[in-house]
Formats: sequence, structure tokens, C-alpha cells
Amino acid sequence: MISPPQDRRIVLIGGGHAHVGVLDAFRRRPPAAQVILVARDLLTPYSGLIPGVVAGAYAPQDAHIDLARLASACGVAIVHGEAEGVDRAGRQVRLRDGSRLTYDVLSIDVGVTPALDAIEGAAEFAIAIKPIGTFLAKVEKLLHEIEASDRPQRVVMVGGGAAGVEVLLALQERVQTMAAGQAGQIRFSLVTAGELLAGHNARVRAAFRRILTERSISLREGVRVTRISGDTVELESAPAEQADFVLVSTNARAPDWLANTGLPTNPGGFLRVLPTLQAEGDPDVFAAGDCADLVATPREKAGVYAVRAGPPLAENLRRRVEGRATEPWTPQARHLSLITAGANYAVASRGVFKLEGEWVWWLKRWIDRRWMDQYRI
Ligand SMILES: Cc1cc2nc3c(=O)[nH]c(=O)nc-3n(C[C@H](O)[C@H](O)[C@H](O)COP(=O)(O)OP(=O)(O)OC[C@H]3O[C@@H](n4cnc5c(N)ncnc54)[C@H](O)[C@@H]3O)c2cc1C
Repeated sequence: MISPPQDRRIVLIGGGHAHVGVLDAFRRRPPAAQVILVARDLLTPYSGLIPGVVAGAYAPQDAHIDLARLASACGVAIVHGEAEGVDRAGRQVRLRDGSRLTYDVLSIDVGVTPALDAIEGAAEFAIAIKPIGTFLAKVEKLLHEIEASDRPQRVVMVGGGAAGVEVLLALQERVQTMAAGQAGQIRFSLVTAGELLAGHNARVRAAFRRILTERSISLREGVRVTRISGDTVELESAPAEQADFVLVSTNARAPDWLANTGLPTNPGGFLRVLPTLQAEGDPDVFAAGDCADLVATPREKAGVYAVRAGPPLAENLRRRVEGRATEPWTPQARHLSLITAGANYAVASRGVFKLEGEWVWWLKRWIDRRWMDQYRI
């Protein structure tokens, strides 16, 4: 048998949930190639624990993976930098600092970027939940400003998906721990263009409507935000909301530079990928996680699918670089969502099924921490 050449190179762009799984798979069984990870952020957040960090239940380091340590333990070289383009003809990744990296096989897992230009004023006046790395620093600043203020404050979340709901409830919980008497002066509200938690069943939606009411958080559903300014959230055909702080957790899109790779994309700029996770039109480029659209089996953008893509992506990168045929992957049709409602309560959602309680929160904590523990190397 002819052994595969060792001078081949796999370049991974982005240390997202899928590539963390690839690193782990390569640690267990290294491919016959040099592997380089290009990472804009050396500490990559694990999204499941982020609302807990906002609530104050976890320290930021509990929810981040140290990519440099992980890569080194997996025999992968790391480049701390930001990719801004791919020259596919020359098989090179272009980095923001002007340097270039040659690849034989490329994999892209760079997540999404908020589509703030969809709402006038959002880029200037609102805090976007993504990217999570910069979001956490902005939350700390917001909390300091609330603490320093001597007048009532109004916090508005725009977007009624799971991330928006979890972060708003977590923020309220955190504020409760601030100076006595101040917490009651802070009003929270959530505005969403569609239904609250539109991707979940009616019982889950009812549970969160009840929880928001119990916690005195005002909810406006079916109301589109048209403009955000320094102190107002303007709404289509409804009176404006007054706001000191506006957070945005609405639809996101893929980073703009992916469109310049010349690879086919879907609306939103997401790379179209085959069941093998290879980009349509280029078998040497793979993509996974939120930045990719699995055309044959579309799924919601969720960390759970990015995590699940890690092992099949690793296997196909290995196969491609070793000159073997790649294999199709079908993500599971449904997944269990555990949606937190502050630091000690959560709701489980899957299909038509709903359960809730403190124990759901403990279950989520156990699952999330067990996942993180795999990467504390
Ligand atoms: C508050 C919150 C809570 C959430 N909770 C859950 C949950 O409980 N369950 C769930 O399933 N989903 C959850 N999600 C969704 C989840 O975060 C995403 O689906 C998941 O992060 C997608 O992972 P990914 O691998 O696509 O990339 P990401 O995790 O977004 O990571 C992308 C990585 O790429 C890097 N990067 C970006 N651009 C470049 C570049 N140009 N060059 C180099 N590196 C780059 C970034 O630094 C980052 O490390 C939550 C989201 C939020 C905001």
C-alpha cells in the first residue's frame, strides 16, 4: 500500500463549535497532513453557557475554550489572525494582516455576523448579541452604567428567539444582585416581529409568556422595529418604546467575505454545502456550523448542529487530504433545546414536548459542563 503524502496541509478557518470537534477528532486520530487553525479569537465561547455568564452563575472562563492550548494538545498549529478572503485558484487564504496561507484542503467555520443594517440606527445605538466575544464586554459596560445611574433605566431586547429571551432573563437576574432598591427601577421589555420563540411548540411559547409576565417583563409580539435611536425604539404601526439600552438578537447573516470566495451562497450569504460538507463547486473547500447551509437537509442555525458536524467534518477532511472518497452526513431532524430562564430555571423543548423546572436547569448545566470538560486539556 502506498502511504499518503505527509506534505499536504489542511487549513481550518475559525475556532467555532464544529472546528473544536475537528481538533478533538484529529487528536484521537491525526490526519496524514499538517493542520493549521486560523483563529480570530483565541478564547472561543461555548454558547450554551453564555446566558449563565450574563446571569452571573458562571465566570467567563467557564464558558470559553482556550484554542491555543487545545490546538497544541491536538498537534495543530495555530495562527492568531482573521481570514478575509480565499484565493481558490492559488489555494491560499488571505489574512487581514496581509499574510497568506497555502492549503490543500480548506474548512470554514466562522459563525455569523448580526444583520444590523436591517434596522436603521441599530449599528450605532444597539448592542448585538453576536459575536459573543465582544457582547460579553458590552454587557459588563451596560451593567456598570446601570449601577452608576441614579434614575430608572429601560432595557429593550429586540428579537424573540431563544438567545434573545435567555439573555434578557439572565440580564434581569444579574441586575437583581445589584445594589438594593435599584433593581426595581429597571424596566425590561422584549419586542419581536413574529411570535415569541417561533421555532418552538405552543406549550413552550406559553411557558415563556407566563415567565416573562411573572418577572414583569413586557412583551410585544408581531411588532416590527423600524428605527433605533439614542433613547427610543420606533415600531411599525405601534407607539415607540423608550429605551436607555437596546440589545439586538435578530436574524444574522454570514460574514461578507464569504461571498467573495466565488462559491455559491444562499440568501444571507451562507455557503451552500453538500451532504459531505464540501462546498458546492469546490471539493477542496468544506464549511460547517452557522456559516454553512446544508442544502439537502436544511436545519436551524444552532450550536447543537455545529457540534454534531465536527466528527463527520473531521472524517471527510481526513479522507479528502488522503485522496479517499468523502461520505455524506445527515444531521438529526430534531434536537432537544434547553432554554434557560435566569440562573435556576429552564424549559425543555423538543417537537411537541415541553418540560420545565429547576431540574431542567441542572440537567442543562450538567450537559454543558460535561461538554466543556472535554476541552479543558
Ligand atoms: C446567547 C446565545 C445562546 C445560545 N445558546 C444556544 C444553545 O443553548 N444551544 C444551541 O444549540 N445554540 C445556541 N446558540 C446558537 C449558537 O451560538 C450558534 O449556533 C453556534 O455558536 C454556531 O457555532 P459555529 O461553529 O457556527 O461558530 P461560532 O461558535 O459562532 O464560532 C465562530 C468562530 O470563528 C471565529 N471567526 C469568525 N470570523 C473569523 C475569521 N474571519 N477568521 C478567523 N476566525 C474567525 C470566531 O472568532 C469564532 O471563534 C446560542 C447563541 C447565543 C447568541
